[in-house]
Amino acid sequence: MDIADWEKRYSEAVSNVKGQLENVQGVFVAYNSNVDAMKHISETDIKKLIGIVGCEKIHERMVEYPREIKDPVDFMARLVISMRDGKAAEVPTYGTDLNEWLMDNLVFDHARMGGQAGIMSNLLANLGLNNVITYVPWLSREQTEYFVDSPNLKYPVVEDGKLVLKRPKDAYDPDQKPKVNWIIEYSNGMKFSCAGEKYEVPRDNRLIISSRPKWIRIDMSPEMYEQLSDIRKEIDGAILAGYQMIKEEYGNGMTYRHYVEKAVNVIESLKACNPDMPIHVEFTSIQNKVIRKAILTDIVKKHVTSLGLDTVEVANALNVLGYEELAYSVMSRDEKSVIALYEGAVRLLKELELQRVHIHSLGYYICVVSKDHPLDADSHRQALLFASTVAATQATLGAIKCIDDISVGLEVPVYTDGHDDLIELEKYLVRRGICTAEDFEDGCISSSSHGLIIVPSKVVKDPVATVGIGDAISAGAFIALLAKMPKVNICQIKE
Ligand code: ADP
Repeated sequence: MDIADWEKRYSEAVSNVKGQLENVQGVFVAYNSNVDAMKHISETDIKKLIGIVGCEKIHERMVEYPREIKDPVDFMARLVISMRDGKAAEVPTYGTDLNEWLMDNLVFDHARMGGQAGIMSNLLANLGLNNVITYVPWLSREQTEYFVDSPNLKYPVVEDGKLVLKRPKDAYDPDQKPKVNWIIEYSNGMKFSCAGEKYEVPRDNRLIISSRPKWIRIDMSPEMYEQLSDIRKEIDGAILAGYQMIKEEYGNGMTYRHYVEKAVNVIESLKACNPDMPIHVEFTSIQNKVIRKAILTDIVKKHVTSLGLDTVEVANALNVLGYEELAYSVMSRDEKSVIALYEGAVRLLKELELQRVHIHSLGYYICVVSKDHPLDADSHRQALLFASTVAATQATLGAIKCIDDISVGLEVPVYTDGHDDLIELEKYLVRRGICTAEDFEDGCISSSSHGLIIVPSKVVKDPVATVGIGDAISAGAFIALLAKMPKVNICQIKE
């Protein structure tokens, strides 16, 4: 199929899904939201901060190369190192004091919603879904300012033993401190000096201070957990993300196992009256291999129906599941790596007993589906095309304010290089008799054990923002599928 035909398919899919979104009764989205504070630092700012903290102290601490930020000296040491080398870095801080210090001494240029669940909740509310029930275990007053304030975005609270859905701004805990990540950008050519050393920044880059306060738990209060039956009557499916924040040890004898078990209990409770309820997990980079493996084999496997991830995350997932060679081939980035990506997706589908694995890459999406998935291949293809249009809109505009915005994404052309990257996969599948060249061009392939849907995506040349586009792709595709599912809320009937 040539690009013009794909463009036609895109228009049809978008108008189709747009007309069906009304069918989605609601979606539950948890767990991670935070505030991203953005600051483009100037020479004056850096000189001021060096003056406050003191050159000598910064210089001494630079030698120690702090791997976590405990105080402003650690922060300045890592900032100067990052600026000296022009190298991006992400460093954790386990308290909230640094945020307060930065608020007093630096102040951000602008702040935005961060965290997969927060980003997806806002997007789905803006797309006009009937009900988006968002849940973050640490809802602070500051955090509520970054949620879309609209009647279809609600937060669950328990009052007098009953579940009440409120707007986030009416539901926060006044004692809760905010989780704020600082993204500090600097520019090529900036000059400053510290302890007799003169520095000139060699390229534009950024330092991220990621907030990991000790009170972060991927968790739910027992009262809320008890009331989940009321939430499941309002929803057709759930999108879950943020499990990467589970820690291996909590220092009080508690380990990740406790939180993994709680995470599974939440999923099982959501599915209590409808074991087929679609549950999507959005994966991300997780350094700790114990946690990465536990998320996949203990939370995702058997409990979840759908998994979304990018190509690097596919390699990371395969790696902990014992497919090191396949993981290596995915990362090789040669022309054959797309074959490894497909084989990897099939491994994940089977090994984790999923109904759907959706991989997004720059230029194309690959989705493998199990034979027992209730929807046909054309519905899956439409969902991917809708998702790509949502992504292109977000990359063009920075944020989607309403469903009609997505006409902007439709204008973005299909990325021809993405289409070309798939040729090796086509040859491989045809050679093995899995499909004909015509089937492949059509984007829907059915093998004896699973279905495969491949679409070339729309890529924006000069995106306004790229943060959270992967989340937008996965959430867009998932709700398009929910909109196409048979419409009976079994939970309302049974309870
Ligand atoms: P994030 O976690 O920031 O969402 P991911 O790596 O999960 O990042 O996803 C990024 C995805 O966004 C890519 O896989 C690609 O499909 C999509 N993408 C990135 N840049 C663009 C762009 N300019 N136009 C359209 N899609 C893009």
